Amino acid sequence: MFAVALLLLPALAGGFEGPEGPPPTSSPRGFSGKSADTERKWEQRYRSLPQASVIRESNRILSAEPHHVGSPYDEKNARWILSKFLEFGLDASIETFYPLFSTPKERVLEMIEPAFFRAALAETPVEGDPTSSQTAAQLPTYNVYSIDGDVTASLVYVNYGVPADYEKLARLGVDVRGKVVIVRYGASWRGIKPKVAAEHGAVGCLIYSDPRDDGYFEGDVYPAGPYRPPQGVQRGSVSDGPLYAGDPLTPGVGATNPNARFDLKDAKTLTKIPVLPISYGDAKPLLAALAGPLAPREWRGALPITYHVGPGPAKIHLKVSFDWKITPVRDVIARIPGSVFPDEWVIRGNHHDAWVNGSSDPVSGLSALLEEARALGTLVKEGWRPRRTILLCAWDGEEPGLLGSTEWAETHAEELRTKAVAYINSDSCGRGFFNASGSHSLETLVNEAAAEVGDPEKKIPILRRLRLRRIEEARNAEDRRDARERGNVRIGALGSGSDYTTFVDHLGIASLNLGFGGEGGGGVYHSIYDDFAWYTRFSDTDFSYGRALAQVAGSILMRLADADVLPFDFIGLADAVARYVKEIRDLAKDQREASEEKNRRIHEGVPQAVADPREPFVPPGKDPPVPDFDLSPLEKASVSLTDTAKEYDAALSAAGRIDGARLARVNALLRSAERMLTREEGLPRRSWFKHYVYAPGFYTGYDVKTLPAVREAIEEKQYSDVNSEVAKTAEVLQRAAANIREAAKALGN
Ligand SMILES: [Zn+2]
Repeated sequence: MFAVALLLLPALAGGFEGPEGPPPTSSPRGFSGKSADTERKWEQRYRSLPQASVIRESNRILSAEPHHVGSPYDEKNARWILSKFLEFGLDASIETFYPLFSTPKERVLEMIEPAFFRAALAETPVEGDPTSSQTAAQLPTYNVYSIDGDVTASLVYVNYGVPADYEKLARLGVDVRGKVVIVRYGASWRGIKPKVAAEHGAVGCLIYSDPRDDGYFEGDVYPAGPYRPPQGVQRGSVSDGPLYAGDPLTPGVGATNPNARFDLKDAKTLTKIPVLPISYGDAKPLLAALAGPLAPREWRGALPITYHVGPGPAKIHLKVSFDWKITPVRDVIARIPGSVFPDEWVIRGNHHDAWVNGSSDPVSGLSALLEEARALGTLVKEGWRPRRTILLCAWDGEEPGLLGSTEWAETHAEELRTKAVAYINSDSCGRGFFNASGSHSLETLVNEAAAEVGDPEKKIPILRRLRLRRIEEARNAEDRRDARERGNVRIGALGSGSDYTTFVDHLGIASLNLGFGGEGGGGVYHSIYDDFAWYTRFSDTDFSYGRALAQVAGSILMRLADADVLPFDFIGLADAVARYVKEIRDLAKDQREASEEKNRRIHEGVPQAVADPREPFVPPGKDPPVPDFDLSPLEKASVSLTDTAKEYDAALSAAGRIDGARLARVNALLRSAERMLTREEGLPRRSWFKHYVYAPGFYTGYDVKTLPAVREAIEEKQYSDVNSEVAKTAEVLQRAAANIREAAKALGN
């Protein structure tokens, strides 16, 4: 829609001078001629500083021992990170919070019928991998924020355990009420699986890694290759994350009380049924002992068995109990004070806690952040003074539920609402393609910075490699044209799954998540095998992509910190919103056509007639008719956003030198732009989530739902809510458009 014809093909033919790309031809967004020259000089110096060897050494030290929340090495790491920040000349301190955390006391999983089997529930050390044998310090395999429980019941296989899987089960005449379900990892965030199982009446939930998605079907398993071995287990949180992030006991406020007393019933995000994650080694005998209907074709994994859904004859005894404790989490915060606007904050973060050794998750991203800190510290020693304040944050407690970032942000919410410019996140970083997701007002900034960083293996700019991959991946001519001709390479929207969640979804702070990946593969996520031995054999083995991450993230930080006019670009936002509005219109149309077709077939007797009479079959019920929704307020708001984005762009191009007071007014309006996309009362069913353009799906957890209030009302067939959610969302977009118009006017006055 806003495609700017870009002379990409001549650039392709001409090639580039070097791995860092061509010298930039125009000023970076937000900088005037003179300030642009100064910025370029400092940035070039900055990008020459990060060293792969230093990133490697940080990774080795930080991942040397298991360092989950509350462990001795977690605290040791926090103190080591603090010592590094101080060594780099930065002002730094540790801020401690006191959320609820649980560790396992008892874990039993047995099959008691038709044959006895006791699950090992253990990951075994691997030869040649020294840290895999640190058994005493490793957390056992478990899902944090499962409730305690002791249940014995028949087993049912429910595929990925998303709502559509239960609809399919109902057609097979299988009910999970009073049963234990076994569900495979994938397709949704893990916390969604026990939530949906409990909604359908299940009494227990086992989550396993099927080798089809995460194991030998993907490639050779560790230690021969990077993929998950038979005994590998994915730990992780099963809290109801889409309800609220952070400490289960203190939604919306910081967990600052070390003597907090608690009642578990106040922890609204705990599961309703006991949950345990298991390996495919432990899952195989259980699944092999199921009879009943054959699993639908797309439900079958890569175990050498015939997949049935049950229920039974496999009968399961599952018992889990936990040590529930208020546990300190230690965020390490470094600060480089702004020389001109100390009360405008540019924030960068990556978590430091892991499930076990976590060489990939999170240390690969954290080591890059530390290298950014070292390089920025060097610039300060050489005379650079960022105009705005930069905060570098190493969060604790991300793995259980974004604890460290959420409690910090909730504690400092008032200050953040007025001072925060943007939040830049990273987490695991591997080999391969640059990926960036986030607030679309930052799309131009990301593109400009990524154009100046080279891919360490391909020796072309990381942005150009990403654009060429988009061409390769495009599914149709329109996507190909978009990939080739649009001025900016598009960035994705943020769902959840790392520490940006609180900033963008709860506080309405423009946010980005950055990293590299897609090559090298892997299957050690949240297991004891995510360690230095694995990472240096199979992932970013020479830490050159860690260096590239430090280069691109640091460049973005510097631009946000130094720009005259903050480098927001609302054309990218307006373009994204216009696409989302079109998606909503298409969704309503598709859903209407699908339900009309389904009801017609029921009327014609199609499902009964074609079903195999010797197989179980339950006829489907009719869908409620999909009414005509009035989406025109959304469409009008989208047009307003587009118009004002263009006005702002024109005003920015026309603006000459901007004086102090006028500049302060423009930048204050720009800082509040993302906040305009939120509503204080939050989304339906989950008031903690306040953003009306981006949210993690209520039933997806990781994946984003854009324009979530409207989209989820349609998807979940809450048709009577749609028009009112359209009105609320349109009001938010109109408010954002008015704010952008104010900024355009302020530029001109
Ligand atoms: Zn992580």
